[in-house]
Amino acid sequence: MKTLIPNKEHRGNVNTPPITPKPNINPSGQKPSRKIKLSQFPPSVKILDTTYKILYVNNPCDVDVHQREAYWGQIDYWTSTIRVYVKDRTKEDIWQTIWHEVMHGICEKFKMDKALNEDQIDMIATGINNVMLDNKF
Ligand SMILES: [Zn+2]
Repeated sequence: MKTLIPNKEHRGNVNTPPITPKPNINPSGQKPSRKIKLSQFPPSVKILDTTYKILYVNNPCDVDVHQREAYWGQIDYWTSTIRVYVKDRTKEDIWQTIWHEVMHGICEKFKMDKALNEDQIDMIATGINNVMLDNKF
């Protein structure tokens, strides 16, 4: 399986709104059906001693707790919530965002959230995501 392209910023300081893909119209004029079943994704994730609720949203602004910016995903340590943008995204890409936010959660617990930058977090998330998907864990 090819390496997933890492997502861009997920919280706070770098402002990269996700680009919503244009509807993919095939020659017959029908939209391809690639609806993602949200039931295949976990409703929560326990990260060390904290269980985070995972909310899947269709509006990228709903990812941001302040609803001011558009993000792929965000982890909120105060409310123990992870929000993930899901509209028009593949299963693999959604998992990438989940792992990315989980990595933030792990780093926050170990007080190493300043030790890794956004790209390093995303590379580790990409590695974990690929191992999980390639091995069908
Ligand atoms: Zn991030």
